[in-house]
Amino acid sequence: MIKLPKYRLIQPAFFWFFGVVFLPFNLSAQVNPESIALAKNVPIADVHMHTYEQNPRSATWWREQMDNNNVRWGGAVGDYRKDVQAELKERYIPAIGQVAFFKVFFKDGPQGLMDLENPIFLNFYDRAEKLFESGLVKGFGEFHTDNHTSGHPRIRRVIKTDNPAMRKFYAIAQKHNGFIQIHAEFNKDFEKDILSLSADFPNVTTVLSHCLSTNDANVLASLFNKRKNITCEMSATGEVINKLLGLNKQPIAFDSKGPFSDWKKLIEAYPNQVMIGTDPCCGAERGYSKLITELRVNFLPYFSPDILEKLAYKNAVRVFQLKEPSPL
Ligand SMILES: [Zn+2]
Repeated sequence: MIKLPKYRLIQPAFFWFFGVVFLPFNLSAQVNPESIALAKNVPIADVHMHTYEQNPRSATWWREQMDNNNVRWGGAVGDYRKDVQAELKERYIPAIGQVAFFKVFFKDGPQGLMDLENPIFLNFYDRAEKLFESGLVKGFGEFHTDNHTSGHPRIRRVIKTDNPAMRKFYAIAQKHNGFIQIHAEFNKDFEKDILSLSADFPNVTTVLSHCLSTNDANVLASLFNKRKNITCEMSATGEVINKLLGLNKQPIAFDSKGPFSDWKKLIEAYPNQVMIGTDPCCGAERGYSKLITELRVNFLPYFSPDILEKLAYKNAVRVFQLKEPSPL
């Protein structure tokens, strides 16, 4: 679980020329003065908001957490809960499939997750089709295809992302302009797979959970550059989640001094392909307000107002076809 310390790249440079010597200046990220107030109040779409069935938080509890933090929309990962949907109405981003994925994994192992004909999946495809057709569901996720360094050891795994079962999920989502949220770690095989899937199913938006938890933001730049239907979300890339879960991990993309320079550059280059989330999993939901405050203080104000709004909710409104809810 312990990751190597994050090496903070040297900030974009001011180079002063003295004879033949270039001296790099290492500037900390600066908040954008126009964005501080906006970051505190901007509506947020939390696109990695788990509302697990087995945890004791009621649908009302979730709505109140969202109301208290001006989170207008939330979801896009499992569990799909009818009671949460009834409570949140158009504020819910309904995603299905995480429960089926876990059932198959515990019954048939990693091979089962790639099996188009797995009996649990066969049953699930039909249910998914009906929910998409009725407009009750907009996507699939969170599908863990490679979480070999994160999560409980019991659930760690690596499977090929481009596999027959995954292609079936993409085919269903393709018919409904849906999304698929995938939790993976970057390597060359994953890159090839996700580029194939996103080319073969152009109506589907892929959301990469935790922006792949990568220490190299450039790998995302390469994917974003090649495919406009690949996006990512920033949950679990700051410091607060690690504190809440008692993990001895370095933050991936931002800390109390703001976003790391390579991440800031990535987002400024591809502002339409990044969203935000909290990942209130495994007990972290008790710190929901802290997770949102961290985004409002340590992340959002470092961007221009225009980019800030895209990160906070405008990209999510586009990707998930969200409607403005009635005033809170
Ligand atoms: Zn998650």
